[in-house]
Amino acid sequence: MTRTATPRQRDADARRADLRTRLTAPPFFSPALCARAAADVWSAQWLDARSLAARGRQRLASLLRFARTQVPLYRRLHRGLPPPSAVPLADLPVLRKVQVMADLGQSLADGAPDARAIEAFLADPAQIGAPLAGHYAVWTSSGSTGVPGVFVHDGNALAVYDALELLRFRGQSLRPLRGGPLLAAERYAMVAAIEGHFAGVATIERLRRNFPLLSPYVRAFSVLQPLPELVAALNRYRPTLLAAYPTAAELLADEQQAGRLRLALDELWCGGETLSPAARRRLRQVFGCRVREAYGASEFLSIGWPCRHDRLHVNADWVLLEGIDADGRPVPPGVPSQTTLLTNLANRVQPLIRYDLGDSITLLPGPCPCGSPMPAIEVHGRCDDVLAIAVRGGPAVKLMPLALATVLEDEARVSDFQLLQTRPQRLALRLGAAERARAGTARETLRAYLRRLALDHVTVDLDPAEPCRDPASGKLRRVVNALPAA
Ligand SMILES: [Zn+2]
Repeated sequence: MTRTATPRQRDADARRADLRTRLTAPPFFSPALCARAAADVWSAQWLDARSLAARGRQRLASLLRFARTQVPLYRRLHRGLPPPSAVPLADLPVLRKVQVMADLGQSLADGAPDARAIEAFLADPAQIGAPLAGHYAVWTSSGSTGVPGVFVHDGNALAVYDALELLRFRGQSLRPLRGGPLLAAERYAMVAAIEGHFAGVATIERLRRNFPLLSPYVRAFSVLQPLPELVAALNRYRPTLLAAYPTAAELLADEQQAGRLRLALDELWCGGETLSPAARRRLRQVFGCRVREAYGASEFLSIGWPCRHDRLHVNADWVLLEGIDADGRPVPPGVPSQTTLLTNLANRVQPLIRYDLGDSITLLPGPCPCGSPMPAIEVHGRCDDVLAIAVRGGPAVKLMPLALATVLEDEARVSDFQLLQTRPQRLALRLGAAERARAGTARETLRAYLRRLALDHVTVDLDPAEPCRDPASGKLRRVVNALPAA
């Protein structure tokens, strides 16, 4: 029987839930947790493939036991399935983002903050990188599959992600302590969408909160600002490590070549979009530094790390990836998958088990010359275009696909869209049927952004067609140069 709670009862319920969280959830930041996660990640380097797989199976069984008793979604989804230690991963049901987002509260462990608390937290930009209810990180993901996502991570998971970043991704690249402390030797800049609770910027803000001494050496820069302002800000900051989407990195390479940007980088990290071999060569040549590929998501921050042979290895002790075809069957090594299922072995507050990530990957055949038993993959990321539009009587401004997507997703709140440049001064916006009601807002938001870049003469048409996939690759490209070939 259900009862309608009075405000007083609701307050009491909220206080009890809060107390439960304080008593049972791992802390948002704890040196002990970080040390334990670091020791675990460190020790995994001596595991062979069999021991690595055994560790993964053990963690999966433990996660399943937890999820089936503590998380409403899995109590329902896994009802009647064999016990955790007896069921292969491939026999478990696939979880899709729409299922998670249809009822966010059902995907969270008992005692976690409810969907309303999460919504209020996300509505406040001052909370980016702060803990929700003192314990949890909350990240949103862009709607590259047409549905935006919300992901909650507990302190254990955060400690594991940080250990993987520091000991695997950074482990091979920590600059020698040349006559000074580490902090003074490196300055890290990330160029990204920073006007929202995205995993990248939220992680930077979390590290700045947890380690205040690090703050001057770790900074995020917005892709939404006009390029000359971004260039000036980077010149002032003088980073030694730069992380950016490949399209953003290429625009910055143009600036560096023209002498307006003057960076002396030790390393450039690229992720989020496909990094073609040609782009990698050019970036390496222009910046005179190593270019490394990063692979992470709002669902698991540090999925892979590039070894010294520039192969991307999956952190298979903490995250399981399965490349599958359109019928859900596993694809053999060497064949690109239709999508990828992710199982996060580190996070309990919102377990993701065989979660459809939407990415296409190829498992690379054979052992890697570096000797790591962790599987190596190639990620086939987004391939959106950079658009070039001339200001009145002046030079062309280049528009990064990430910036355009952020304006539409974060400011106009549409996620199922496609933006095409149909003429030199003309854009066409297509929206999915469910988002047509926001067409006017989306167009106005886009025009306001163009005005900020002195592109107020550009026309934005609303195209009644649905966003459509590229007939050759089958990919949905969201920002497309559709100018007739010259
Ligand atoms: Zn390797």
